[in-house]
Amino acid sequence: AIILGIESSCDETSASICIDGEIKSNIIASQAIHAKYGGVVPELASRVHQQNIIPTVDQAIIQAEVTKNDIDAVAFTRGPGLLGSLLVGTSFAKSFALARKIPLIEVNHMQAHILAHFIDNPRPSFPFLCLTVSGGHTQIVLVKDYFDMELIGQTLDDAAGEAFDKTAKILNLPYPGGPLIDKYAQLGDPKAFSLPEPQIPGLDFSFSGLKTAILYLVQRKVVENPTFLEDYRDDVCASVQERIVSILLNKLKKAAKQTGVKDIAIAGGVSANSGLRTALLAMGERYKWNVFIPKFEYCTDNAAMIAIAGYHKYLKKDFVGQDIGPLARMPIG
Ligand code: ATP
Ligand code: MG
Ligand code: FE
Repeated sequence: AIILGIESSCDETSASICIDGEIKSNIIASQAIHAKYGGVVPELASRVHQQNIIPTVDQAIIQAEVTKNDIDAVAFTRGPGLLGSLLVGTSFAKSFALARKIPLIEVNHMQAHILAHFIDNPRPSFPFLCLTVSGGHTQIVLVKDYFDMELIGQTLDDAAGEAFDKTAKILNLPYPGGPLIDKYAQLGDPKAFSLPEPQIPGLDFSFSGLKTAILYLVQRKVVENPTFLEDYRDDVCASVQERIVSILLNKLKKAAKQTGVKDIAIAGGVSANSGLRTALLAMGERYKWNVFIPKFEYCTDNAAMIAIAGYHKYLKKDFVGQDIGPLARMPIG
């Protein structure tokens, strides 16, 4: 079967073609316009999706060397995400399905981040644990089957990606700051500054205290040394990254112990972080886990993960009707 996948939940317009479970194209149009505002402006995001969606889909079809007539079903991100952004992808998918008289498949964006692990080999086996760390979410999910997922831990305030991005803002780095902190952290000393590890019960997370600690640290140091941010940028980045990674992995370790599960995956934009990837691999060796880390292009938002999720729903004939609408909030379980 040939599935067209559409992603438009935030600031990436993406389209992908999947043929019998194999990804043939994954076109991603990122929106540069938000950088100057220091974050995603929802109203602008919807407008740019509207401009980008048709050319992005056309390119995905051309690159996969198929035609519109060959497509058997269209899968789209129904939620969670920005409503105006989701409306563009949803409306496009509905129109395409209606015009071509093919089935329509809804996909949960957070499930899709996890199902990106079924694009390539090796693949985790059920049940596995997935730490999903992105711009809007930080979750530990017990994945029992493709679409049978249980949320066993989540953030009580900021997401891990937000912690990276807000720290970057304090350091006067442009949005999105996550990738830049990763880059500078590789040049710095992670022990230079000590930052608190929050004491949160169970498998939940909190990152708002860390952000405040960094703000106070920088404010204090700048009084002593006005060029502190320039002088110690790399050390601050390394210290912050090390703390975020330790918060994430300590909870993941706890979840693995509690559930007895040994197949451990990460997903979402922050899973592109080199410090997290390295530390997870080391922890996996120590505890004899089978560790699964997605390819970089499948970490941040992309339609390949939507197409692969759509393919597995297509096999079950799990279709939706034309009365479907997007959901800003959409639980994973
Ligand atoms: P959600 O999936 O929760 O709706 P989103 O789709 O906006 O949110 P993603 O695209 O999955 O999130 O991830 C974006 C986030 O990943 C941003 O916060 C960005 O800073 C962060 N990020 C990307 N690369 C890295 C990196 N190398 N290190 C740290 N953070 C990173
Ligand atoms: Mg994005
Ligand atoms: Fe995402």
